[in-house]
Amino acid sequence: MTFCCTLFAAGSGDNGVGKRIRTIVIDAGHGGKDPGAVGKIAKEKDLALAIALKVGHYVEENMKDVSVIYTRKSDVAVDLWKRAEIANEAEADLFISIHVNAHTRTSARGTLTLVLGQHRSDENFDVAVRENSVILLEEDYKTIYEGFNPESTESYIMFSLMQKTYFKQSIEFGAFVQKQFKERAQRRDFGVREQGLLVLAQTSMPGVLIETGFISNAEEEKYLMTEYGQDVIASAIYRGFREYKEEIDRRSNFSSVVREESVIEKAPGVEVQPAVLPANQVVFSIQIASSKNKISTDPSSFKGQKEVMVVQDGRWFKYIVGQEVSYRKALDRCLVVKDDFPDAFVVALKNGKLIPLNDAIIEINR
Ligand SMILES: [Zn+2]
Repeated sequence: MTFCCTLFAAGSGDNGVGKRIRTIVIDAGHGGKDPGAVGKIAKEKDLALAIALKVGHYVEENMKDVSVIYTRKSDVAVDLWKRAEIANEAEADLFISIHVNAHTRTSARGTLTLVLGQHRSDENFDVAVRENSVILLEEDYKTIYEGFNPESTESYIMFSLMQKTYFKQSIEFGAFVQKQFKERAQRRDFGVREQGLLVLAQTSMPGVLIETGFISNAEEEKYLMTEYGQDVIASAIYRGFREYKEEIDRRSNFSSVVREESVIEKAPGVEVQPAVLPANQVVFSIQIASSKNKISTDPSSFKGQKEVMVVQDGRWFKYIVGQEVSYRKALDRCLVVKDDFPDAFVVALKNGKLIPLNDAIIEINR
């Protein structure tokens, strides 16, 4: 097989850690001669465009520091590779592809976010086949996609071989969006799933493909055709993006600020002392919260979490748990902590002060 090399965007090694979000690409699925899925009345291409424009509008209105690029703003056909190229050339920080789902079972309804991942032969595979099959309408697709056949299971095996550079961040963004769909928009939530999606494989940044509902379900089709429904869906995506951006910005601040004032303290009311570590030993902890005013580290303030420690970081107080000399172990522990604190992440300390995570990882691998 020869198609693995140019078809996919190469992972750059820089997986976006510490990078603020400045540019996003909003991709309305399908368009022009490609209607996408067709309902009783509406076409996927029109609903996707209406929602995409609304999402972009919310971002433009409310986030002056983010520039929005659209792969299309009208009913025109754009090849899949071109969509990815637009995002890559803009060096975008996030790619959001907006679609509408369809199923032969007309009762199927709900929202789903897909990230690039391993080939799965589950029912979402139908979605991947359908969304990838748009290339069959493109001229010369056999050459451009180097023999990729959207309908053949074998073609999907290569997705398993790909380096998932942006996997974690894509999942994270998807989870914020799905949370909004579920809690604010009151839509059925199928969560974030992995699939082999060409358009995401060719972009070199975190990205998702959002299925905003089922056009094959009469009720959802009507909902997605209304201004109201489109607004609710678009604002949910916007809110999900806002939460994701806040999180990424917080982390990038966190790794760039000079920390002259960082002091690790024994938290009041907590019996346990942080373990005594040799000087210059890098240690990894899990940050669960931050605040401008110092709050009690009593377990009752932190969902029963014991042994919470405070690190002062400029004007901020950061609340951390755990001390691991192994980064791997800290990541494992972070996953457990995430059950109670979904936004928890790993931080690094040296001599009681926070240091940039990247530096710490380099140092332990030296
Ligand atoms: Zn689609």
